[in-house]
Amino acid sequence: MEQIKIIVAGPRGKMGREALQLIERTAHFSLVAAIDRTHDGETVRDVTNIPLDAMIYTDAEQCLNNVDADVLIDLTIPEAGKRHAKMALEAGVSPVIGTSGFSQHDIAQLTELAEAKETGCIIAPNFALGAVLMMKFAKTAAKYMPDVEIIEKHHDQKLDAPSGTAVKTAEMIRDVREQKHQGHEDEKEILPGARGADVDGMKVHSMRLPGLVAHQQVIFGSNGETLTIQHDSIHRVSFMSGVQLAVETVQSLNTLVYGLDELID
Ligand code: NAP
Repeated sequence: MEQIKIIVAGPRGKMGREALQLIERTAHFSLVAAIDRTHDGETVRDVTNIPLDAMIYTDAEQCLNNVDADVLIDLTIPEAGKRHAKMALEAGVSPVIGTSGFSQHDIAQLTELAEAKETGCIIAPNFALGAVLMMKFAKTAAKYMPDVEIIEKHHDQKLDAPSGTAVKTAEMIRDVREQKHQGHEDEKEILPGARGADVDGMKVHSMRLPGLVAHQQVIFGSNGETLTIQHDSIHRVSFMSGVQLAVETVQSLNTLVYGLDELID
């Protein structure tokens, strides 16, 4: 397989470290640089103890324009992720974005840029293949059981709510179910927020607790029965098979793909 030259943004983060280990153990992946807010000029090995000697840049634009790279993996925060994705596309480097918190507007803007540059881009709210299957199963169930609510649970360091996975699940369900507002039409919240966020009439509830990684239940209700589709990421390594698939696929695209469900049958 041809070697894929990769830049990682966010190398010291929890997901960034997992991505570095993926690169280290994958023969056809090589790390050519990293983007961080600190440690300019040091190596990844210096700051993570992972044996990779690529240099760290604090200036993302300089890194993306000067380093010979094929793919950028971004695992940072929404503001940085959006900037990095745009700069990478401008520089002809294909972004694989795991960072969550991108709006529909951000995705539309990046799609336009990816198509103008004829450069592939993948934004995946969830790289765990089990989570992608959960979303697909939920979409299938919603055709027959349109009454549905979503509960997502994450560690308490997560910055955005609801999760990108929950929003993406609701959007996939919206595409197939008859439009409806979940709950009684005269429902009144005694405490604001009691019924959760609203995505096209679907209620999305977010829990944040230490000890959790990333979990979601999609609960369908019908006459005399309920159906629960549940996915649990119990370790961040669960996301890496999807990162690998995205890195191997992104250069064959000339547009933006949102969600790995577009890539697996
Ligand atoms: P984390 O441990 O907090 O790591 C975030 C990293 O981003 C840190 O190294 C942080 O550096 C860096 N960072 C912050 N601001 C930056 C900036 N302006 N420029 C460059 N780097 C910056 O978080 P995590 O758990 O690894 O998660 C990272 C992202 O991935 C989050 O958006 C999370 O929601 C998402 N995520 C996605 C998936 C998926 O499957 N798609 C799964 C899990 C998590 P400092 O130490 O300097 O702050």
